[in-house]
Amino acid sequence: MAENVIIIGSGPAGLTAALYTARANLNPLLLSGNEFGGQIALTNEVENYPGFPEGITGPELTELMKQQAEKFGARFETDHVSRVDLQKHPFTLETENGAHYEAKSLVIATGASPRRLGVPGEMELTGRGVSYCATCDGFFFRGKQVAVIGGGDSALQEGLFLTRFASQVHIVHRRSELRAQSVLQERARENEKINFVWDSVVQDIRGNGAVNMLNLVNVHTGAKSELPVSGVFVYIGHYPNTELFKGQLDMDDEGYLTVDERLHTKIPGVFAAGEAHDHIFKQAIVAAGFGCMAAMEVEKFLANLEFQGYPVNITNAAR
Ligand SMILES: Cc1cc2nc3c(=O)[nH]c(=O)nc-3n(C[C@H](O)[C@H](O)[C@H](O)COP(=O)(O)OP(=O)(O)OC[C@H]3O[C@@H](n4cnc5c(N)ncnc54)[C@H](O)[C@@H]3O)c2cc1C
Repeated sequence: MAENVIIIGSGPAGLTAALYTARANLNPLLLSGNEFGGQIALTNEVENYPGFPEGITGPELTELMKQQAEKFGARFETDHVSRVDLQKHPFTLETENGAHYEAKSLVIATGASPRRLGVPGEMELTGRGVSYCATCDGFFFRGKQVAVIGGGDSALQEGLFLTRFASQVHIVHRRSELRAQSVLQERARENEKINFVWDSVVQDIRGNGAVNMLNLVNVHTGAKSELPVSGVFVYIGHYPNTELFKGQLDMDDEGYLTVDERLHTKIPGVFAAGEAHDHIFKQAIVAAGFGCMAAMEVEKFLANLEFQGYPVNITNAAR
C-alpha cells in the first residue's frame, strides 16, 4: 500500500517535516540516507539554534528532533534512495538496501554535500588526514598542525573547534577578507592558535599514506609555498544532493531544485525543503522552517487528493 508521505533525508528539514506530518496523523516514513542528521550533525558547536542558550552539539540536536518526531508516530528507516519515478502516481522509490516504496506524496530533504577541492592527493588521502568533518576527526590531531580551507562560517567555526586539539590551525583562504559572521571572525582573530594564510589556494596535498604537506599558491603573485600539516579540513561550500531527480524535476544550473513559494515542485505532491532548493540561507533553523512549510503543504495536498484524485489542482492544494 502506498505511504501517505515519504520524507527523503534526515537533516533539520526532513526531521521537522517528519514532526509536522506525524502530528497531522499522516504516519510519515522518513528514509534517513547514509548520514543521519545531515550536515548539522557534522558540527559540535551549534550556538544559533533557538531554544538552546548554552548551545548544543549537532548530533544531540538532531537526535532530539528525531525523538520528538517519533513521539508522534514518525517512522524512520536507515536507507538511501537510489531511484525515484515521479512520472506516475503513486510515486515509486527504490533504495540501496533493495526496498521498494510507493508514496502519495514526497518531501525531498536531501540537502547538500561538501564540495571537494579537486586537487591531486585529496581523494587518495581522504580519511588519512583529509577530512570534511572536524567533529568526527578533530580528536585525531591532538598536538598536531592542521589546515582549514575556506573563509566562511563553517571554516571559522570548525577551525575554532579544532584549536581544542591541534597545536596550530592554519586557515587558508583564497581572498584577503573573510565571509564569516563577524562574531566568528573576532573569535578567530583573538585565538592565538589560529594563523591566517591569505590569498592562497591549495595546489596539491602530499603524504605517503598520511597527509604531511600542503602545496599552496598565492593567487596574486603565483608564489608557491609549503605548509607542513598532518590534517586538512575542507570547508569550501556545498552542492545540492539532487542528482536523483535530474530529468524529472526542474533545477537551476547548480542543481538546486526549483520550487514555488509554497515549496511545490512542478509535480503535484512532490515538495522540496531545505538545502536541496535553498541556495541562499543555508542555516539549520531555515531548513527546519522549510521542513515545516513542506509538511503543511503535504497535509493540504493529501486532503485534496482524497476528494479530487490525482493530479490534484495545485492552486487548490496550496490554499
Ligand atoms: C560544518 C558545518 C557546520 C554548520 N554549522 C551550523 C550552525 O552552527 N548553525 C546553523 O544554523 N547551520 C549550520 N550549518 C548548516 C546546516 O547544517 C544546514 O543548513 C542544514 O543542515 C541543512 O539542512 P537540510 O535538512 O536541508 O539538509 P542536510 O543537513 O544536508 O541533510 C540532508 C539529508 O539528506 C540525506 N540524503 C541525501 N541524499 C539522500 C538520498 N538519496 N536518500 C536518502 N537520504 C538522502 C542525507 O543523508 C542527510 O541526512 C553547518 C553546516 C556545516 C557543514
